[in-house]
Amino acid sequence: MDDIDNAQINMDAEMERRIAAVRNKPLLVPANGCCLFCGNTVKEGVRWCSLECRDDWELRNE
Ligand SMILES: [Zn+2]
Repeated sequence: MDDIDNAQINMDAEMERRIAAVRNKPLLVPANGCCLFCGNTVKEGVRWCSLECRDDWELRNE
C-alpha cells in the first residue's frame, strides 16, 4: 500500500521528462530541490511533489 501511495505522490525526473515531451513544452524552470508550487522537498531534478502541484503551477504560469 505504501508503494502505491508513494508512486502517486512522488514524481521523478524521468516522469517529468515524459510529461514535458508529451506536452511538447520545454522545461523552462530549473529544479531547486523544492516543489515550485507548495515548497515540499522533492528529489533531485524534480520540480514538483505531485501532478496536482505541477498542474496548478502551470495554470498560474501560463
Ligand atoms: Zn507540491
